[in-house]
Amino acid sequence: MTVLNIARLFRRFLANTVFPSMIAFFFAVGASGADGTESAKYIFLFIGDGMGEAQVQAAELFGLGSGAGKISFSSLPVRGKLSTAAANGAVTDSAAAGTALASGYRTNNGILNMDPSRTKRFITVAMLAQNKGMKVGIVTSSFLNDATPAAFYASSPSRTDYYEIGKQLITSGFDYFAGGGVTRRRGRSGDLRDIYELAREKGYRVLRTREELEAAKPGAGIIAPGAAGALPYEMDRPKEDLSLADFTRKGIELLDNQKGFFLLVEGGTIDWACHRNDAAALVHDMYAFDAAVREALAFAGKRPEETLIVVLADHETGGMVIDGRKAAENIFAVLSAQKESSESFDGKIAAFRKGSRRTFENLLPQITETFGLHTLSDVEREELRAAFARSMKPKGRRKRDRESLRRYGPYEPLSVTATRILGRRAGIAWSSFGHSGAGVPVFAQGAGSAYFAGEYDNTDIARNLMDLISSR
Ligand SMILES: [Zn+2]
Repeated sequence: MTVLNIARLFRRFLANTVFPSMIAFFFAVGASGADGTESAKYIFLFIGDGMGEAQVQAAELFGLGSGAGKISFSSLPVRGKLSTAAANGAVTDSAAAGTALASGYRTNNGILNMDPSRTKRFITVAMLAQNKGMKVGIVTSSFLNDATPAAFYASSPSRTDYYEIGKQLITSGFDYFAGGGVTRRRGRSGDLRDIYELAREKGYRVLRTREELEAAKPGAGIIAPGAAGALPYEMDRPKEDLSLADFTRKGIELLDNQKGFFLLVEGGTIDWACHRNDAAALVHDMYAFDAAVREALAFAGKRPEETLIVVLADHETGGMVIDGRKAAENIFAVLSAQKESSESFDGKIAAFRKGSRRTFENLLPQITETFGLHTLSDVEREELRAAFARSMKPKGRRKRDRESLRRYGPYEPLSVTATRILGRRAGIAWSSFGHSGAGVPVFAQGAGSAYFAGEYDNTDIARNLMDLISSR
């Protein structure tokens, strides 16, 4: 057991027994010791939503095949592993997971930064950073009031109180919100005052174009929505649109100041790709996420002693299993043949459903073209044909029996079947359309990174970050 681990355990013991001032004293002594946990002034927390070990490995193997090379964060010097359970179950959702990562407390699925009885509200690491005079930024490829980003600035008995969470985004006073937009910004029925309008009244600037954002200077708070809701999957993103890395780079520029900053960056659509069992969308989103991490690494290169970078996941999605040998040989060739995300292909299916010549043979050229399925085995053809028949029924008239839920989940049967065939060819199997209880990887470098070595609970992340921030 390292000195640091002993210190960590002792702090937890003290936290339950001794006065806070004494704890603070111990933090200060512990943090300035000879264990490499010097002051972290610039803190980056990257969350790959749904990113388990297999997702990282899939991206690595795809990158080796494409020539893009390894993803940057897999070779960071400090490695850890997180357990991901919620208070009320082994499988967490992003609200309970975000609460654990942001505030250091377990809660029930669906709740944001409140205890399971929905009475106590928690302080988050981002709020503490702000309290200590650091600037704070939140960047995500999901929508800004989705559970993971919201876990850092809001508390709510329900993660789906989007309007209320949007209002808390404004009152947080954080300096930079960017990536996706605020969803349901006029409330559930669309009759409430626009969140962006309320934000402007509180002094935020809402910047919608690349030009506006590029010209922005530090000062008033900025909300930079790159879309109405989530950003598109990376493989569907028009190249002129801002990327997750663009929003991250600008965030660093705007937040950089003498007192330091805390920047959260979430790869939110990694999770969505995995829910859909869409491995091609996943690997492209992993590279978009990695490009954002590279922006932080470039910053850290200039101030290595004062910068902490932590990359982790909130949970695993899809129960993804990778056959390393088969994937090494096939993953790039198979997945690079897919031209758009399965979600985007859903739109083509919907259009075809409205047409008049609705036979499998008529749609087959589009399936072949989109997914690169130029040759099909008899089994694959029959799987696609069965899925096609179901996809041609209007959504409300599809039988939701156990077998079709097992095969297709809540998704468009034909799209899911195509991506699952590609997955099999690429050496990837999915065991579900939901989250799993698997532990997830942690990667870290820089000031205080020694805190993140070894195996621990998701709640330890917030506690370690709070220790580092308090001891500055
Ligand atoms: Zn999810």
